[in-house]
Amino acid sequence: MAVSGFIRGFNFLHRTKPRSRVYPSFYLQNRAFLDSNILSNNDSVLPVLIVGAGPVGLVLSILLTKFGVKCAVLEKNKGFSKHPQAHFINNRTMEVFRKLDGLAEEIQRSQPPIDSWRKFIYCTSLTGAILGSVDHMHPQDFEKVVSPISVAHYSQYKLTRLLVKLLEENLGFHVCTSGGHEGLDHEPFRGREILMGHDCVSIDTTDQCVTATVSFSKEGKSMTRKIHSKILVGADGAGSTVRKLVGIDLKGEKDLQKLVSVHFLSKDLGQYLLNERPGMLFFIFNTEAIGVLVAHDLKQGEFVLQVPFYPPQQNLEDFRPEICKKLIFNLVGRELSDIDVIDIKPWVMHAEVAEKYLCANNRIILAGDAAHRFPPAGGFGMNTGIQDAHNLAWKIAILLKGVAPSSILATYETERKPIAIFNTALSVQNFRAAMAIPATLGLNPTVANSVHQVINKAVGSILPSGMQKAILDGIFSIGRSQLSEFILNENNPLGSSRLAKLRDIFEEGKSLQLQFPAEDLGFRYIEGALVPDSKDAVPAPEVPTGRRRDYVPCADPGSRLPHMNVRVLSNSANEEIISTLDLVSGDKVEFLLMIAPVEESYNLARAAFKVSEEYKVSMKVCVLWAADTVTGVHPESKATLAPWKNYLDVIEVKRSSDSLSWWRTCQMTEKGALLVRPDEHIAWRTKSSIVGDPYSEMKMVLSTILGIEST
Ligand SMILES: Cc1cc2nc3c(=O)[nH]c(=O)nc-3n(C[C@H](O)[C@H](O)[C@H](O)COP(=O)(O)OP(=O)(O)OC[C@H]3O[C@@H](n4cnc5c(N)ncnc54)[C@H](O)[C@@H]3O)c2cc1C
Repeated sequence: MAVSGFIRGFNFLHRTKPRSRVYPSFYLQNRAFLDSNILSNNDSVLPVLIVGAGPVGLVLSILLTKFGVKCAVLEKNKGFSKHPQAHFINNRTMEVFRKLDGLAEEIQRSQPPIDSWRKFIYCTSLTGAILGSVDHMHPQDFEKVVSPISVAHYSQYKLTRLLVKLLEENLGFHVCTSGGHEGLDHEPFRGREILMGHDCVSIDTTDQCVTATVSFSKEGKSMTRKIHSKILVGADGAGSTVRKLVGIDLKGEKDLQKLVSVHFLSKDLGQYLLNERPGMLFFIFNTEAIGVLVAHDLKQGEFVLQVPFYPPQQNLEDFRPEICKKLIFNLVGRELSDIDVIDIKPWVMHAEVAEKYLCANNRIILAGDAAHRFPPAGGFGMNTGIQDAHNLAWKIAILLKGVAPSSILATYETERKPIAIFNTALSVQNFRAAMAIPATLGLNPTVANSVHQVINKAVGSILPSGMQKAILDGIFSIGRSQLSEFILNENNPLGSSRLAKLRDIFEEGKSLQLQFPAEDLGFRYIEGALVPDSKDAVPAPEVPTGRRRDYVPCADPGSRLPHMNVRVLSNSANEEIISTLDLVSGDKVEFLLMIAPVEESYNLARAAFKVSEEYKVSMKVCVLWAADTVTGVHPESKATLAPWKNYLDVIEVKRSSDSLSWWRTCQMTEKGALLVRPDEHIAWRTKSSIVGDPYSEMKMVLSTILGIEST
């Protein structure tokens, strides 16, 4: 696998050593973490405080609450962001959402129809010539072979709304908007709250807890209060206050590009595009203007225009609503009578990852954009952040329940940071692929950036700003003249060669892609809360290509459990068909052992039950029967697994008679077994029957995963 290979090159370890030494030290270490009576008087200690009610903070609060961990969220703004921003939800994130009380289904119902967003369109104006168009949905994307669900296109602010609704209606959360927490500073904190207008301004830590000082205004007065928690998660976005307060640096490339986002509505434009050229992204190049239009919802006529921004020669005054409207008309190729500019926001594109994800003895943790900020090309930002939350939630839960030592949290950084580093490189590749189109048209954006830097450095101190702006405008307008009809036509040798090159880029899949199945579903943890199974040579590291590559199912430890449909064998007439991913509980922290119905594996399953009972961790066993199991006989593991009851018999549902069986899909035989973590990643596998004592093997496996030394 590409991703695994890349990461493996960094930090492959064959058999991870237990992260904490011996049982007694684990209990001592955890006592400080778990003891809630460490503060005097009325002060209470919240298990988890999340700073930031963006998608990552909200998803984390949902997952923690489902796992029985009390938490609260702070949000510095008085309302939730209404800027559409992210819109592409990748396959893995949709799989996570499938387990959040119908969230994925609600997104699928509410998102625009796929045919209205499956293409990227390149044109001289929205009503002018089409330079190329790329369809990003392949037939296999609809077949549900590699995943039970597909990608989605849904604006970030609408997703935020659904996440808040789920927290309020299903999980008993309360959104406090009334200018300051209803409770006074000295009152115990109840949890299950989202405190709006609460800005985390400082953080103190002791051996026992984290204290966040929070400022808010109440009845016009500025106030502060202190909130104590065992763990504080900074999910406070790209400019993270938490990250700055604890002094964690970012590593990578800063300021790749400055842009302005113009959020606007026009039903006329939406209707026109829906009828004439439906798409998600429109890359528009003409002599008057250049921009990328993101169609968030064509039916509702909701768009965001992204335009390059060159401060200090340009400032936000150059993007007043009236000027933005003119710019939009230039890009559309005609005026729109119903245009409504809602919001104009500058933003900066970076490619950086935090040097550390944890500090203060693992009590302060970064997640989402606070830990990594990528170019939005490829839509990995929010998706990677949500997957951070998915990796983190069960580890926090298992720690706070006293099952694992605090070193389990260190595996969050060990696992997620390499993924962020890889996705940063991938997003930069994607950004470069996007730039290949203007470069082919004679508009090299890196040249524009260099010219801008030269103006800033060389003439910035000599010439008045008005003149600098005129020079910059002049240079850009000369650049845009490359797009004139006079040059860009088949009869002009230069134009015809550029158009031919464009066609090659589109046909060869070298332009910006929307889907990256190999990276989306195929990312793999090499080291962390898992037991690597191989001492084979490490494959050479691979670098991201920026091209679409297929996902190949893989059951190596650290990979996401492959998907296959299975039928649950029960005594009811309607035996349910589910995905193998559904075998893992979404509502509690539970490990899953998958075996075939062979004697040695049943022995292993009994050992797994016994060890999990000793370690006070929940374990479910799935006995997977082959599709060709004798018909008429209802296979059952009851007698074999008694007295344990937390097991399930399922039978493969093959797509066709020549489809691979489950164990072949996993490149294993039915003698093997897989242990799957609560986040659906494989923690351990054996390709053949265990030689020796299954109880000792399972004890080694669980203690390694949890980071405790077996006695
Ligand atoms: C133009 C654009 C398009 C994008 N498209 C995609 C896409 O299609 N797919 C994708 O996956 N990603 C995309 N992204 C990236 C995505 O928007 C971010 O990755 C995502 O918002 C990160 O979520 P988050 O919860 O980590 O941070 P945020 O969404 O930034 O939320 C952080 C929250 O913390 C709050 N906060 C900050 N400081 C404090 C404080 N001191 N106290 C309390 N609260 C605080 C903020 O107000 C904010 O509400 C895009 C980004 C841009 C700019």
